[in-house]
Amino acid sequence: MRVPFGALDADYRAKRVDLDAAVLRVLASGRFVLGDEVAAFEREFAAHLGARHVVSCGSGTDAVVLALQAAGAGPDDAVLLPANTCVPTLAAVRLAGARPRLADVDDRTLTLDASSAAASLHPDVRFLLPVHLYGGVADLAGLGRLADERGLQLVEDCAQSHGASLDGKKTGTFGRTAAFSFYPSKNLGAYGDGGAVATDDAALAERLRRLRQYGWSRRDFSIEEGRNSRLDELQAAILRAKLVYLEPENTRRRAIAALYDTAFRGLPVQTLAVRPGAVSARHLYPIRVERRDALREHLANQGIETGIHYSTPLHLQPAYAFLGYRSGDFPVAEKACATILSLPIAPTLSDAHVDAVIAGVRSFFGETA
Ligand SMILES: *Cc1c(COP(=O)(O)O)cnc(C)c1O
Repeated sequence: MRVPFGALDADYRAKRVDLDAAVLRVLASGRFVLGDEVAAFEREFAAHLGARHVVSCGSGTDAVVLALQAAGAGPDDAVLLPANTCVPTLAAVRLAGARPRLADVDDRTLTLDASSAAASLHPDVRFLLPVHLYGGVADLAGLGRLADERGLQLVEDCAQSHGASLDGKKTGTFGRTAAFSFYPSKNLGAYGDGGAVATDDAALAERLRRLRQYGWSRRDFSIEEGRNSRLDELQAAILRAKLVYLEPENTRRRAIAALYDTAFRGLPVQTLAVRPGAVSARHLYPIRVERRDALREHLANQGIETGIHYSTPLHLQPAYAFLGYRSGDFPVAEKACATILSLPIAPTLSDAHVDAVIAGVRSFFGETA
C-alpha cells in the first residue's frame, strides 16, 4: 500500500464542492485583491483564534517580518529564536532588519523553553520569537514570565500551529503579535502563498494594514515606508472554505499521533512530548531514531513517504555563517537534525494507511505487526 506524505489532491477531492464554489464566486465578483473575502476571512480567523485582529499578508515569511516590525523590531534590536526551525523564521528576522540570536531547544518537545532562552539571552535581545514547531506548543508560560522579567516582547511563529492551544487558549494569542502561514501544506493551507498576523492591539493592527500596502494610511498616501504583501481574494475564499474543517482535521491528526505514540512504545524510537496543558496541532509527526536514513529507505521500499524536518539547524546553514556560530553550539538541535524523521500524518490518511506505517516501522526493528 502506498502511503503519501501530503495528499493535497485527496484533500481537494474531499472538499471539492465547497472549494469550487468559493473560487467561482471570486472569479465572478471582479474583485481580486483586499476585498470582501479577505475582510471576511480576517474576521473568521480572528474569531477562531480568539484574537481581536487578524491582518492577512502575502506569505508566512512576510507575516513574521510584519509581526516583528509592527511590534517595533528594527536595526537596534536582536531577536532570539530557536536553532531548530526552518529557514524562513531566520530569513524573516533579517528581512525585518533585526539581528538574529539563536538558542537551543528542549529535548522533549524540540521547541524553545524558558531555560534554553535564558541561557542565550544576550543584552541586546528585545524580542523572543518562539516557534510552535510540528504543531506543538513552545514554553509560552515560561517565556512569557521571562519576557515580563526582562522587558522583552513576545512574537509567536505559528506557521505550524493553527488550532494548537495551551490551557484552552490558542497559539497566536499569547504574543504581542503572532505570525501564521497558509502555505498549501500547513494545517490551514491556501492554493498558493498566504499569511496573516494576529494581535489584540488595535493600533498595531492599523500599522500592519499600512505596512502590507506601501505604508498607505489612505489610498495613495504613504505615512511610513511599506511594501506590497497582500492576500488575494481567491486565496481568502479558499481559506474560508477550509477553515471550517480545521478543528475536525486537527482532531484526526491527534488520533493518528495517539496510534503512533502507543505503537512505538518499547521501540528504540523517541517520540515528541506534548507540554502539560498543551493541545498540539500535530502538523508533523517526527520521531528520532539512530539509524534514520536506513529506516527512511526501509519505509520507502514499502511505499511509505517520509520527510525530514529539518536536516540542517539554522546555525549551520551556509548563508548565515556570518552570524558566527559553530558546530557544537546547539547540541540538542544538531542531534535532532541528524536523527529526525517525519512520518505521514495527513488527516486524509485512513486507518489502513496508519497501520501500514506502524507495521513498516516495527518491521525495521525486527518486530512483527
Ligand atoms: C512555513 C513556515 C514559515 C514560512 O511560511 P511561508 O508561507 O512558506 O513563507 C515560517 N515559519 C515556519 C515555522 C514555517 O513552518
